Amino acid sequence: MTGVTLEGVVKRFGDVQVIHGVNLTVEDGEFCVFVGPSGCGKSTLLRMIAGLEETSSGSIRIGARDVTYIDPSERGVAMVFQTYALYPHMTVAENMGFGLKMTGHPRAEIDRKVAEAARILKLEPLLDRKPKALSGGQRQRVAIGRAIVRGPEVFLFDEPLSNLDAELRVEMRVEIARLHREIGATMIYVTHDQVEAMTLADKIVVLRAGRIEQVGKPLDLYNNPDNRFVAGFIGSPA
Ligand code: ADP
Ligand code: MG
Repeated sequence: MTGVTLEGVVKRFGDVQVIHGVNLTVEDGEFCVFVGPSGCGKSTLLRMIAGLEETSSGSIRIGARDVTYIDPSERGVAMVFQTYALYPHMTVAENMGFGLKMTGHPRAEIDRKVAEAARILKLEPLLDRKPKALSGGQRQRVAIGRAIVRGPEVFLFDEPLSNLDAELRVEMRVEIARLHREIGATMIYVTHDQVEAMTLADKIVVLRAGRIEQVGKPLDLYNNPDNRFVAGFIGSPA
């Protein structure tokens, strides 16, 4: 397990700069939540950590390793998206094991890892089903299971619950908290849901227009927001 360090991270799309020199340390095993308005750069930062977007300048370390120019598959990260593109023709077990199968892992190891992820996510009774026979919440569990099976050092979640209805969101939020307690990996989680941020986070990062506005523990931000903007995201009026 390892933390994530961003130093002077910049992202430009053509002539447009969208991330303006972000410095951030996410500690080993920490649950770090990114919040901020639509378009402020949450997904772009996450995608840069995953290696799905090139970093224009600055550096990204995972543990002691500089991964700025390293291939996504070599970074030891797994990302869970808002839309969980499961393979419709494969069972739950096959969907979860597919990544390991593609990278040539032995069958017995894949089966063992899928069984472990299914246990953690309470998917055992559903392993032989196809995605169309699952509810939205169950499908998102499978998407999370796919990440767990890969055994990443760092989990990245981009608004994973925003397609679910309110009741399921609460249920899945509890599941994600339990997952973090059980496997203890470093997690970076993007959400626009204040309750999710307050209940899941060890540390909240408030982003505004490609810059960090404030970083802190949930209650510190809640009680002592630096300004109205932060208060608007975290709750208590400044
Ligand atoms: P958030 O996830 O916080 O809503 P994003 O990271 O998706 O924000 O986007 C940050 C900014 O970068 C936005 O202005 C968006 O339009 C821009 N952007 C994101 N991806 C691209 C891209 N591939 N090409 C050009 N601009 C992009
Ligand atoms: Mg986004």
